[in-house]
Amino acid sequence: MTRYVLPDLEYDYGALEPHISGRIMELHHGKHHRAYVDGANKALEQLHEARQKGSYDNVAPLARALAFNVSGHVLHSLFWRNLAPKAGGRPAGDLAQAIERNFGSFEAFKQQLSRTAATIMGSGWAALMWDTLSAQLLVAQIHDHQSSTIEGAVPLLVLDAWEHAYYLQYHNEKAKFFDAVWNVWNWNDVAQRFNDARRFGLHVKNVADLAA
Ligand code: MN
Repeated sequence: MTRYVLPDLEYDYGALEPHISGRIMELHHGKHHRAYVDGANKALEQLHEARQKGSYDNVAPLARALAFNVSGHVLHSLFWRNLAPKAGGRPAGDLAQAIERNFGSFEAFKQQLSRTAATIMGSGWAALMWDTLSAQLLVAQIHDHQSSTIEGAVPLLVLDAWEHAYYLQYHNEKAKFFDAVWNVWNWNDVAQRFNDARRFGLHVKNVADLAA
């Protein structure tokens, strides 16, 4: 059985300070992210056991657990790579042009993404997605790790809006965290993902009349 694995960070826990504290990064990566990896592997094991026993009564909760934990693993892995020390600023090249084309301006995109994160009821993420159907950038407000996302769209940049992402440092002032994170976005990483995503057709590849 293929198992999920917690990736190492490409920078030290304290490397994103003062914008994101080292203690938050340590707990977020070492405890929270690890729990999603473990939860995903546990769901896989339990599904394996269910098949061995021929007992399928729990496939619905196990499918939900799998979706929640695998999606949490994917989003956190992406988030870590979307961030870098001494980063921030603005994207360049094709990504910058696409942001202007699809959102009007970088500033409008920034406002939309930050407000999308700030207005989540409960736990979730704001995400910049490449929609393969319409070939344009969209912002999604993902609930938990897996609901209200956009099927067929590829996440390029994700912003964790769960309380564990900011509460130790920013307490109830989460908008300050959603401002601070703009100092550590790794636009080179996002641009690479954008270039890769534009080559995908995914499952709507052979359907020509769904967007015009
Ligand atoms: Mn998180």
